[in-house]
Amino acid sequence: MERKVRVRFAPSPTGPLHIGGVRTALYNYLFAKKHGGDFLLRIEDTDQTRFVPGAEEYIIEAFDWLGIKFDEGQGIGGDYGPYRQSDRKPMYKEYADKLIETCWAYYAFDSPEELDNVRKEFEKEKKNFQYDCNTRAALKNSLSLSKEETNTLLENNTPYVIRFKFPKDTEIIIHDLIRGEVRMNSNLLDDKVLYKSDGMPTYHLANIVDDHLMKISHVIRGEEWLPSCPLHVMLYKAFGWEDTMPKFAHLPLLLKPEGNGKLSKRDGDRLGFPVFPLEWQDPISKETSSGYRETGYFPEAVINILALLGWNSGTEQEIFTLEELIDIFTIERISKSGAKFDLEKAKWFNHQYFQLMPNDKIAEEYLKILKEKGFNASLEFAEKVVSLVKERCSFVQEIWDQSSFFFLRPETYDQKIIKKRWKEDTPQRLGEIADILNSITDFSVETTDQAVHSFIEKNELNMGQIMNCLRLSIVGEGKGPNLFEIICLIGKEETLERINTAIETIGKNE
Ligand code: GLU
Repeated sequence: MERKVRVRFAPSPTGPLHIGGVRTALYNYLFAKKHGGDFLLRIEDTDQTRFVPGAEEYIIEAFDWLGIKFDEGQGIGGDYGPYRQSDRKPMYKEYADKLIETCWAYYAFDSPEELDNVRKEFEKEKKNFQYDCNTRAALKNSLSLSKEETNTLLENNTPYVIRFKFPKDTEIIIHDLIRGEVRMNSNLLDDKVLYKSDGMPTYHLANIVDDHLMKISHVIRGEEWLPSCPLHVMLYKAFGWEDTMPKFAHLPLLLKPEGNGKLSKRDGDRLGFPVFPLEWQDPISKETSSGYRETGYFPEAVINILALLGWNSGTEQEIFTLEELIDIFTIERISKSGAKFDLEKAKWFNHQYFQLMPNDKIAEEYLKILKEKGFNASLEFAEKVVSLVKERCSFVQEIWDQSSFFFLRPETYDQKIIKKRWKEDTPQRLGEIADILNSITDFSVETTDQAVHSFIEKNELNMGQIMNCLRLSIVGEGKGPNLFEIICLIGKEETLERINTAIETIGKNE
């Protein structure tokens, strides 16, 4: 019988969630939903030394914002809880003990200092030390010591860890859904710690026990976990859970824009883009890292960006809704090689979603920005401004740059345009245009446009030259949407003021 698809996202709350992690969660989610399965959130906080306050809440808020819903897990509930590993602490010991009983694991009593000394001895001979099948016999553990010695140490509460005992000369085969068969010789692997002296399991033990107890069918995670996978496969064997072992899929890395190496927070700082979904303030250093949400990205755009970083649809289509992605997502189309982050493409995606966004919604956000700058405008006015400049923007924060002239008179005038276009008779011609505009009672885009154009034509003037100077008077530069849209929105009085000021100012100070 086919197993029900159950996948999990299992972050460690060690800081803000990197977008690579968001992509891992997204692929898990798409896969689960495509197959009518469950998507779980499990918090892997077995390494208490790396715990960062606020990180768990951050993770939950980030997925809330993205609209990626968990069916089960931390903060949601479900039949397989608790879903935070520190809350599951008491249940792991019995599994570690089971492995000791079946000789798949052993107690290791070496103190950190003792291990350090051994490491140094190895270094002297230019060798790397590894606790493994070749070295364990010479170290202080329940395999090298007698039963009595071991029992005495245990009775005296000597600190110990429990290590996995890799068998010698065994070929371990991983069947990865993305990479195919990956083989590894057990002699190269170190006897990883499963259970620590602080009474906590390590990631490896807790992860396998939980995946088993939570009936996880597929493990979809980052490529950085591939080296741990032989141990995981062996743990399933050791526990006798091979029949229900999840299928593995290791996702390609998210690479720096230049392509060499993993995308890091530093790349974001260096190149000016967020690597976290939400803004994050480090609780200790108080350093703030930017987030996609605060930068003005839409959750839909972030999903689209991430979906296509490492997966392709096999078609030309680039804009997908979450439902469409669920429909067409397949693990087969995930690539093996790393995916380069492309900032321009990321902005392009946001631009597409920005254009689809209703103007009143953008205007509401824009009003907040205006207020911060000290301007009070009506929603109607802001909406009109948005409709005129939206096309040139990808983020609400960019609107001000494209539309400040609706709220501020020009303080300076572009010298390049003056040099090229401002002629001796320009002030007179602009004065005539001001008179014409003044005489129009129905001050609409059509009437003003027609009046100015017919004046230019009738007097056989240079259209480009006059229009450029008129724009210069109103905007101060050569940019902006249709000039008649601008003058109608600022109104007749303001338009005439600006033309008169330009006539009085330009050319007078040189
Ligand atoms: N806790 C691991 C992490 O932080 C999970 C790895 C896995 O999915 O097995 O990425």
